[in-house]
Parts: sequence; structure tokens; C-alpha cells
Amino acid sequence: MHYQPQRDLLQNRIILVTGASDGIGREAALTYARYGAHVLLLGRNEEKLRAVAHEISAEGLAEAYWFLLDYATATPDDCQRLAQAISERVPRLDGVLHNASILGDIVPMDKQRPDVWSEVMQVNVNVTFFLTQALLPLLLQSEAGSLVFTTSSVGRQGRANWGAYAVSKFATEGMMQVLAEEYQSRHLRVNCINPGGTRTKMRASAFPTEDPDKLKTPADLMPLYLWLMGDDSRRKTGISFDAQPGRKPGIAE
Ligand code: NDP
Repeated sequence: MHYQPQRDLLQNRIILVTGASDGIGREAALTYARYGAHVLLLGRNEEKLRAVAHEISAEGLAEAYWFLLDYATATPDDCQRLAQAISERVPRLDGVLHNASILGDIVPMDKQRPDVWSEVMQVNVNVTFFLTQALLPLLLQSEAGSLVFTTSSVGRQGRANWGAYAVSKFATEGMMQVLAEEYQSRHLRVNCINPGGTRTKMRASAFPTEDPDKLKTPADLMPLYLWLMGDDSRRKTGISFDAQPGRKPGIAE
């Protein structure tokens, strides 16, 4: 995407990033902070989150708060408690980037282990929904809230062996569409980003033989991530965007 954001695009915006400890989420949190946002980092690993918060403060940017939530075990009540803790630190949320996900096993459907299947649904779908429900009141305090989910090409067109992950991303697309319609007359827009193959830990575990140097980095994707959180996307809702339009799914050649 060719997009030249203003340096103060996200000044005074308060943005929560899930899965902010690594990969695309970590990069998005750093990038939002560099464009003026006050970022809230969510993850399960205190040490990694603290390191991201430290990186943000080392750049002289607005202090980042971090919150712990392990999606593997989180309940709706945990998500409500988290929303309460967030509301004690900030008056509203102008943006939420749902980015945390797991891959599960890349095996045919008849080999998908029920416990791994359930964990993928718990992390990628259930907790993402419980958290959305808990955070909606804070998002509705914003004049122009942006709720962004993270999808995948296998969440639009099923592909052999992608089992639980693919089904969880179809559910993510569905969640986005339902919410977008429910809030279309309110000041909350709801969209998806499909990052496309990107150099991260998750990608390396899905394609262990792939040359990572052939992949875009999380930093390369940030124009779309910025655009969806800033005012330039204000009227867009219910859309699933590609961070790498035209990229063919599968191993990078
Ligand atoms: P990474 O595996 O690098 O990062 C995933 C993030 O989710 C980490 O912060 C991780 O935390 C967090 N997370 C995982 N499990 C839990 C849990 N139980 N509780 C809380 N947080 C958890 O993945 P990517 O950066 O590659 O992926 C980011 C998003 O982009 C995902 O939604 C993914 O599906 C999507 N995507 C990625 C593509 C790619 O090629 N990379 C392609 C298409 C979509 P921790 O650091 O503790 O492990």
C-alpha cells in the first residue's frame, strides 16, 4: 500500500494491541506509538511485554501500559476484569487491533487433534470475541473507534491441511462482518487485515523450509495498519483488507 501517513496521525489516540509481544503485533504497537498513539500492550508473557514497553519508552514515546492475559485459559469474566483494569488507566479506546493467534497443527482434517482444535478456537475465536464484548463500551467512548481483526487467506478460501486455523479465520471474517453491520450507524468501524506471508515465528512454523528473506517483514505491512487506525479510513467498515495485495498464498519463491 502506498500511504504516507502524517507524523501525528495517531496523536492523542489510545490503541490496544493484542499479541503485542512478538511478530506483527509488536511491530504494530511500536509503529502506533511512533505516530503519536498511547498504546496498551496485551499478551501472556510479562517479560516480552515489558521489553516492548521499554523499547517504546527508550524512543521517548508516550509510556505504554501492558496487561497480561493468557488466551488459552481466559474466561469471559477474565476479559471483563481486564476491561475494568483498562478503564481504570484510560478513559476510552480509539482502536483495538486483535492480532494474537495460534496456528494449531497443519495436518488433514482426519488427523486434527480435538484438544489442539479446541485450543485454536479458544484463542483465535472465543477469547477474541469475549474481549471484544468486554471492550465495546470503551471503544464506544471514542468519537471514531476502529476495531481491527486479523484474518488470513485461508479464512476466505479453504485449503487442505489448514484445518482449525482456517476455520478460525473464517469465523474471524464472520465476526467482523456481523459487528460492522451492527455498528454501522455508530461511530465504530470494524474491518479485517490479512497480513499475507510475513517473516515471523508463526510463519516459520507453518513453512519451515521457506527462505525468510523472501518474505515481507512486519515493518513492511505497517502502512495499512496505520491507515486503518487513523482518520483517513474513517468511512470504511465491513471490509477485509490485504496488506500485500496481489500476493499469491503459499510458499515464497
Ligand atoms: P507470532 O506467532 O509471531 O505472534 C503471535 C502473537 O500472539 C504473540 O504476541 C503471541 O504471544 C500471541 N499469543 C499466542 N498465543 C497466545 C495466548 N495463549 N495468549 C495470549 N497471547 C498469545 O504471529 P504473527 O505475528 O505471524 O501473527 C500475527 C497475526 O497475523 C495472527 O493473527 C496470524 O494469524 C496473522 N497472520 C500472520 C501471517 C504471517 O505470515 N505471519 C499470515 C496471515 C495471518 P507470545 O509472544 O507470548 O508467544
